[in-house]
Formats: sequence, C-alpha cells, structure tokens
Amino acid sequence: MDGQLAVIGLGSVGSMALWQASRLTDSVVGFEAQAPAHGRSAVGGDTRLFRMIYRGRPDYYPILERSRELWAELEAETGQDILTRCGGLSIGTADGSYLRSLLETTRTNGATHQILTRAEMAERYPQHNLRPDDIAVFDPHAGALRTDRAVTAAVAAAQANGATVHTNAPISSIQETSDGVVLTYGDNSWTFERVIVASGAWSKHLMPHYLGAHTETRRIFLSWFVARDATQFTPDRFPVFSRLHDDRSMYGAPSVDGVTVKATLDGRGAPTPAADSVPRDLTDAEIAETTETVSEFFPGLIPTIVRSDAFPDLYTRDRNPLLGWLSESSRIYSATGFSGAGFKMASGYGEIAASEALGKRSFERLDFVRPQRFSN
Ligand SMILES: Cc1cc2nc3c(=O)[nH]c(=O)nc-3n(C[C@H](O)[C@H](O)[C@H](O)COP(=O)(O)OP(=O)(O)OC[C@H]3O[C@@H](n4cnc5c(N)ncnc54)[C@H](O)[C@@H]3O)c2cc1C
Repeated sequence: MDGQLAVIGLGSVGSMALWQASRLTDSVVGFEAQAPAHGRSAVGGDTRLFRMIYRGRPDYYPILERSRELWAELEAETGQDILTRCGGLSIGTADGSYLRSLLETTRTNGATHQILTRAEMAERYPQHNLRPDDIAVFDPHAGALRTDRAVTAAVAAAQANGATVHTNAPISSIQETSDGVVLTYGDNSWTFERVIVASGAWSKHLMPHYLGAHTETRRIFLSWFVARDATQFTPDRFPVFSRLHDDRSMYGAPSVDGVTVKATLDGRGAPTPAADSVPRDLTDAEIAETTETVSEFFPGLIPTIVRSDAFPDLYTRDRNPLLGWLSESSRIYSATGFSGAGFKMASGYGEIAASEALGKRSFERLDFVRPQRFSN
C-alpha cells in the first residue's frame, strides 16, 4: 500500500479535496497531470463568481453555506485573499422568468437578499444601463473567487499538513483490485486503499463507460474590457453581476487587476471534442454578440474585447455533479462533472469528497449528485 487515499487531479475541486483530506489523515497523495492551477484547466481566467442567490435546487444551499465558511478558513490558514467580498447583483425584468425563479429558490432556502428597484439601482450602481422594467436582487455574501490563488493555497496547506504531491504525473489507468486501487502512468504504479478522481474535463477516459456516456466536455469562453473610468469598476463600487434577459445575457466581475473588467456572455458552454484542444480564440459571432451586449449594458466600458480566452469543463446530462462512489462496493470516488458551476462550491465539494472517501458522513440528501443515478 502506498497510502490510504489518492486524489487524481489537483485543479479546482481536487486541490480542495487534498486539503480537506490532509486534515483527516497523514496518508494522502495528490497526482496532477501538469501543475495545480495550470492555465488550461477550469481554474483559468482569474476569477469565478461566488453567489448564495441562485435559481435551481434548494439542496445546493447547505453546500454553499459550508463552502463560504471554508473559503474563509482557507484564507485564515494560508494568509491569502481568496474571496473578494464585493456583493453580487442579479439583474432582470421585474416580472421575467429569471428573477421569478431566483426569488422562488431564495424564499425556499432563506438566503439573505435585498430587492433593489430600478431607481435604487440607478443611484447605487450607475455603471449598469438598465431597461425600463429592470430591477435587481442584491446578494451581500457574493463575491469574486481568485481561482489560482485558491488552488495553490489549498495545495500548499495540504502539503503543510503532510500531504504528498506529484506534479507532471498524468495517471493513465485506474484499476480496482480486491484490496486496493492501482494507479499507473508510464512505468510508475502505486496502490492506494481508496481514490478520488477529480480530473475535470479530462475525466471521461478514467471513468466507467456508463458514466462517460452521460457526460460531455464543453468549452466556456471569457472576455474582458477596459473601463473609461477605472474607479467605477473596482470591487468596492461594482459587485459581481449576472444579467439575464430573453434576448441578451451577461455576467461578470469587478476589476481585480486595476485595469480590466470581466464581462462575458452567459450560458455559452458548447460541446468541444477534447479538453486539451479547446479553441481559445472567439469566433466572429461570439465577438459581435459580446461587444453588442457590452455596448448596451455598460456605457462606461470601451466596447472592444481587450482579452479573451476559453477553458474546458465536464458537463453531465442533468447539470448536477458526479460526487460519490462509483458503486456501493467501489473504492473509487468520483468528484467531477461540475457543469459550468462548480467553483463557488469547490471547497465544499472537496470536503464532501475527502470526508466520504475516508469513511466519514457528510451532508444528507445528496442523491441528486450521486453517480449511481445514471446506472440504470
Ligand atoms: C470559463 C469558465 C467560467 C466559469 N465560471 C464559473 C463561475 O463564475 N462560478 C462557478 O462557480 N463556476 C464557474 N465555472 C465552473 C467551474 O470553474 C468548474 O465547474 C470547476 O472549476 C471544475 O473543476 P474541476 O476540479 O472539475 O476541474 P479542473 O479545475 O479543470 O481540474 C482538473 C485537474 O485535473 C488534472 N488532470 C486531468 N487528468 C488528469 C490525470 N489523468 N492525472 C492527473 N491529473 C489530471 C487537470 O490537469 C486539472 O488540473 C466556470 C468554468 C469555466 C470553464
């Protein structure tokens, strides 16, 4: 036996699983194909939105609450600023489906929020050029997660707790035997009691065929703009935002580098053949729609894309993650399939994976994320 637990992939969720496991055992080993937070993984692009206000299953709320605590713990443990607590705005038509479903979820889970009328928005956040019927929901706990800092901090914290890390170690096969799990790459092989697979968009070839068939690698692109007056788009004045209309949608974050503002089309994850060859350039249509939307929504941004990029993520058919054992008797735990929405809860997902993989209980009511939902 080379250890109690291995974590394959030290990206967004694997790094958090390694950190959490290192709090529970001194026998955890991480394997990363390249380096933690490398620029072609789903960690790329500087920031991810953290929000407690969302539309969809109320079951995510306890994981979000725990994730928020864990981001603060990671900051305290490593001395790094990871979550820029600037608040968040969800903007839409007052009687439109976006805000209606978001407020319905919020009423169910009790998330703290404040509704801002159009006039209040115009006064507090003049950066947004609103339509006549627009209002907003303010989320005081939202913010921008500094992705690469979060991942490298979690790996460093895990190593400080005694975890071992192998970089440039792309695991090519995982084999379950009667008393352990054998991992190989090249001429190297290791045996562990249990393994967490957190290899993101690269997970398909490491997972059983039945699960792979329910997943798809998707490309998500990002774009950044320069402000006419940079002081209007700093975190203290410009919360993260998500703005959805029937004909246009965009989300983004304040300037974290003092120069560029992230403003990007929403919901554009599109199938792509392989995680390693995601086209990084935006198409002419993507550029045109992005600049048109920015021209309408933000008169204070110069409507020319100054930076853009694209990254892969693994989507499942129902958009819920694959978090759990592959089968009741398996020693392989899946932590992937975060479907374009995983970073905000990466710390919470990492804790669930590490605890359960080491035989501890975690949240109730997680059936909707269990891989076995796809086994029939
Ligand atoms: C552009 C973009 C914008 C997004 N915006 C948001 C947002 O605002 N808010 C939000 O909450 N979520 C957002 N998401 C989703 C979120 O970022 C992802 O769901 C999450 O980061 C996925 O994490 P992961 O750990 O599964 O994958 P990754 O972070 O990609 O990590 C996988 C790691 O595994 C490694 N690996 C792969 N194969 C192997 C192997 N065989 N052996 C060893 N290592 C291996 C890879 O090198 C990589 O480092 C966004 C995603 C993208 C792409």
